[in-house]
Amino acid sequence: MKIISKISELREAVRQLKISEENIGLVPTMGCFHEGHLSLMRRAGEENDVMIVSVFVNPAQFAEGEDLDGYPRDAEGDAALAKKEGADYLFTPSVEEMYPAGYRTYVEVENLGKKLCGRSRPGHFRGVATVVAKLINICMPDALYLGQKDAQQAFILRRMARDLNMDVEVRILPTVREEDGLAMSSRNRYLAPDERASAPALYRAISEAKKTAEGGEKNREKLIKQIRESLSGVPGMDIDYVEIVSADELEPVQEVECPAVLAAAVNLGSARLIDNILINCEEL
Ligand code: AMP
Repeated sequence: MKIISKISELREAVRQLKISEENIGLVPTMGCFHEGHLSLMRRAGEENDVMIVSVFVNPAQFAEGEDLDGYPRDAEGDAALAKKEGADYLFTPSVEEMYPAGYRTYVEVENLGKKLCGRSRPGHFRGVATVVAKLINICMPDALYLGQKDAQQAFILRRMARDLNMDVEVRILPTVREEDGLAMSSRNRYLAPDERASAPALYRAISEAKKTAEGGEKNREKLIKQIRESLSGVPGMDIDYVEIVSADELEPVQEVECPAVLAAAVNLGSARLIDNILINCEEL
C-alpha cells in the first residue's frame, strides 16, 4: 500500500491505472477506522481492481464550535488497518493541499442539505459535497463506497454525482453496529461509560418503530411520538430530531407506505449520535 499526501502524485498514479484500464473503488473517510469503515473497504476491494482510501478531516464540514480540533485521529492505526484490508493507496492530504490559500469553490446540493442534520449543522453538507467532489476529481473512481449510517450524506452525494454527471457508481452499504445495536462511529469514543450504556436506546427505539410501521401503523406522527416517548426516559439524552422521510427527496411522508427512512439525531453528553432505519425497503 502506498501512502500519498500530494494530489499531483496521486493523479499520476490514477493516470497510469486508467491507461491499464483498472477499475478504481474509492472509500472516502475522516479516519480513526472502525468496522464500519472496514466493511466499505472490503466491498471496494471485492468489486474493483484497485482501492483508494482517503483520510481527511475536512474543516469545511465542521461549523464554528464543532469538534474539528478534537476529532479523533490515528494515522498509524489507520494505515495498518487499510493495508490489512487490501487498500492500494491511502490518500492523506493536508488541509493546505486540499484548500490552498485563495480557495473559493464550493458544491451545494440544494434543499437536501438543509433538512434533518442540516438544520442544526448549517454548511455541513456543503462541506461534505465539496470535499467528495474534489476527491472524485482527483481519484476518478468507478465506484464510491458510502455508509447508510450517514444516510442523508449518502443521498446528497448520490444526487451530486447524478446532477453533475460524474461518471461514478455510488454504493451505499448497511450500517455496522456494536453487539448492543449502537451504530459504530468515531464519535462514540466521546461517550462516558454511563452514556455509552444509554446509547443503544436510540437504535432500540427506531427498531421498535419500524416494527410498528411494518405491522400496519402508517401514521407518521404516531410513529414519531412512539420514538420520542421511548427516548424521553433515557438519562442525558436530548433529542435533536426524529423524522420519517421519503428515500428520494427526504421529504416527511404523511402515510408511511412507500420506501422511507426513519432518521434520528440525539445529543448524549458531548456526543451527537445519529442513526436511521429503512421502512418498506431493504437497501438504499
Ligand atoms: P467518517 O469517517 O465518519 O466520515 O465515515 C466515512 C464513511 O464510513 C462514510 O461513508 C460513513 O457513512 C461510513 N460509516 C461510518 N460509520 C459507519 C457504520 N457504522 N457502518 C457503515 N458505514 C459507516
